[in-house]
Formats: sequence, C-alpha cells, structure tokens
Amino acid sequence: MKVLFVNPHYSFDPFTLLLHPPLAFGYLSNFLKKDGHEVYHADLPFHGNRPEAVLSFIETIQPDVIGLTAVAQSFYHTLEITTLIKQHYPAIPIVAGGPLVTFVPEDVLTRHPSLDYLILYDGEESFVALVNALQARATSQQMKSIPGIAFRDSHGSVIVTPPAPTVSDLDYYGIPDRSIFELKNYLAYDYETVLVTSRGCPSRCTFCSTTLMGRNFRYNSPKHVCDEIEQVLNMGFSSIFFGDDTFSGNSKRTIDICTEINARSLKFNWTSNMRAIDAKPDVLEAMRGAGAYRVFVGFESIQNSTLKLIKKGTTPERLFQKANLIKSYDIELHSAFIIGAPGDSDVSLRETMDFIRIINPTVATFNCMEPRPGTDVYNHPERYGLIMPDKYWYEKLDWMEEPVSYTADLSRSEIKQWINRCYDEFCSPTFLDTHTNDLEMVKAAWA
Ligand code: SF4
Repeated sequence: MKVLFVNPHYSFDPFTLLLHPPLAFGYLSNFLKKDGHEVYHADLPFHGNRPEAVLSFIETIQPDVIGLTAVAQSFYHTLEITTLIKQHYPAIPIVAGGPLVTFVPEDVLTRHPSLDYLILYDGEESFVALVNALQARATSQQMKSIPGIAFRDSHGSVIVTPPAPTVSDLDYYGIPDRSIFELKNYLAYDYETVLVTSRGCPSRCTFCSTTLMGRNFRYNSPKHVCDEIEQVLNMGFSSIFFGDDTFSGNSKRTIDICTEINARSLKFNWTSNMRAIDAKPDVLEAMRGAGAYRVFVGFESIQNSTLKLIKKGTTPERLFQKANLIKSYDIELHSAFIIGAPGDSDVSLRETMDFIRIINPTVATFNCMEPRPGTDVYNHPERYGLIMPDKYWYEKLDWMEEPVSYTADLSRSEIKQWINRCYDEFCSPTFLDTHTNDLEMVKAAWA
C-alpha cells in the first residue's frame, strides 16, 4: 500500500516560525516499511502553504491511504485538507491520529465525515494494523479487533476499540525515518532540528493532555538518544531542540545523556522543555556542560491557589528559586505564563508582571487558557471558575484571536489586553532596566 502523510499548511506565513519535520510520521514509517508499504510525505508549508497543494501530491503518488496528525492547534487546517481530498478523491481512506482525536473520537467522527479512521494514543502498532487490514479489505467486524482505533461501521455507528498496550521502552520504536522528509528544505531554512526522546510526563497538571496521552512517563535510553543525535548532526544540523514535553523528567537519564554526549565528543547547542521541579544543580551542571543553552519552563502562574488548583506541583517561592538557579548555571530561561488561568484577576496579573520583572528571563511568552479535550479543565471548566462557551473551539480559527475561556474576573477582551500588555513590556529588550527601580519592595518580598 502507498501511504501519504500530510503536514498541514498554516493560516499565516510559516517562515516566521521554527519549522521542524513532524517526527510522528517518521516513527510510523519505520513500522509501515517493515510490513512492505511505501511511505510518502507532503509538507504543505514548503509547497505553497495552501491546502490545494495536497492534490498534486495525490495525483503523482496515487496513495491508497492518507494520514494526518490532529492536534488542537492545527485541527482546522487538517479539516480543510481532508474535506478537499474527499471532494476530489472520495474513495481514499483518511486517517487522523494525535492527542485531540484520542480523547474525543465520537465527537470527531460524528461531526467530520471527511475523516474515516482515527488512531488513538501511540500510533505505531495501530496504524500499521489498520493499513494491513485495509489492504486485506477487512470488514467492520474484523476491524474491531485492531487496538487503538476508531471508525464508523457499516451502519454509521462509531466504534472505538481499546488502546494498544503501552510500550515502556521507547527504543522499540527505533530512530524516526527522516528519509521521508524533504530535509534540504529544513536545512536551508534553519540549522536547528527536533528530537523527541520521551513521551508523557511525570506530572499531572489538570489542563494538559500530555500526561493522559503518554499514559506514563516513558523514554529512550541515553545510547539511543545519542545515536539519533549523531544521525542528525551527520545530516548537517548543528543545533537541536528536544521537543519532549519534559526532557529532564528523569534526572539520572538526563545526566547519563549529557555524559554520553561528552563521551562521544558531540558538539552542538541545544534547548529543551523542562519542568521547574527538575531544575537541580547536578542536572543543570550536566546539561550546560553538554551544550544546553536554554530551557523552556512553563511557570503558568505565580498564585499559590492557582498552582494548587491546576495541580502544578510547585509553589511560587519554588518557581522563584528555580528561575534563579537555572540562570546561575548560565542557561537562558524561556518562561511561559497563562493569562486568564483559574483565579486570575487584574491583581494577580499585576503580581505576575512584577515576578517576571524580577526573575528577568531571557524570553517570556504568554498564552491564554486553552482547555484541551480529555483534560479535567476541559471536562469540568466550572471546577476551575472558567467559562468556556464553545466546547468545539478547536474546530475553528477564532481561538488564535479570541481567548477560548475566561474567568469571572476577567473577560475575553481583558485577557487579550493583558496578553498584549505583557508582550509589549516583556518583548522589549530593555524591560528590566526600565522597571528595576520600582521593584525593591517586591524583590524583598521574594528574597
Ligand atoms: S509539567 Fe508540563 S508537560 Fe507535564 S503535565 Fe504539566 S504542563 Fe503537561
């Protein structure tokens, strides 16, 4: 069977972003090729950044199956593409996988006839089993024995099968097959590429689907990670972003990876996502010594009540200490905050701005609360004092402009104003200089 994966277009210029190949397709490719299938990839951002570009790929390749990833950020674009394909090629089965469809398969299949099959949780085994079944022209009844899929049966009823067993040792999935990507486009655009060396997260934040999707924290061995690093360095990349939701969730593994990087004399700069709780002296020292120059830390809020409510597992005081610790190891700090988090008000956001002025991160970014399907915040926004008027917000584009949820104390327009205010101030390279003199009292309170 010929399988065509599609990386959707963006609704804005993609060349204002970090562009990385969608590695999920590379992992699936390993398994598909083992079973004798051919794998192709249509990277629409590099092909006119328009949904129509997919049609010429289909005309040339004549695929038997088409696969896309469905995440909240790109679901609107995924649907644009699948609707277009169904208009022109109604007989080609279309499969979507990813965290969004995993948690709302009935909603997705009931509302979107352009999607035929969904892959739930880790896709490797389920996707290949599905392609093999399509090749064998399996009946709906036979499809029910494939783990981790959802589909409409011959009566139009949505069938959801139990998930495939969790694979604990991610080395089993191999190094993603990057030969399916047009890497020359990525190399021409940027010297940085992405590796993903773990799935899931040890934390249980109630607004995040990572922990539900990953089911538990699983990772690659240090040897496997360094083999993959060597591979991408040999391809010409010179910087790496570890796109794991939390790269350093296991301190020993992190230190072992750093030791192995140095033992192999691998020279490259890298960044990673990090939980504040994982910022420990021995870990930070090892990371800096192995080329880490920046970490991305989701602070989310500096209100104790909010951190408790969203089960962030930390306190404002600890966040303050960790921010300073990270910087003391000469590692740049990219800090992220939620504006319009449960309990947010004008007062709490003024305090957040003071906090940022004091910790003085290299970069600060701000997002509004976007409750993701499957999470407790999505299922029960009222428990968090949030109002989410449209549970299908992820099907539309409005969420890029309008906050999808708000609090009793902050309207949507007020949240937007706060986000603009934060970006106006903290995207100024001199922001600390302009405020330091006002902050002595606040600083003393945090010290
Ligand atoms: S620490 Fe980050 S990745 Fe982990 S559950 Fe919380 S928000 Fe998600």
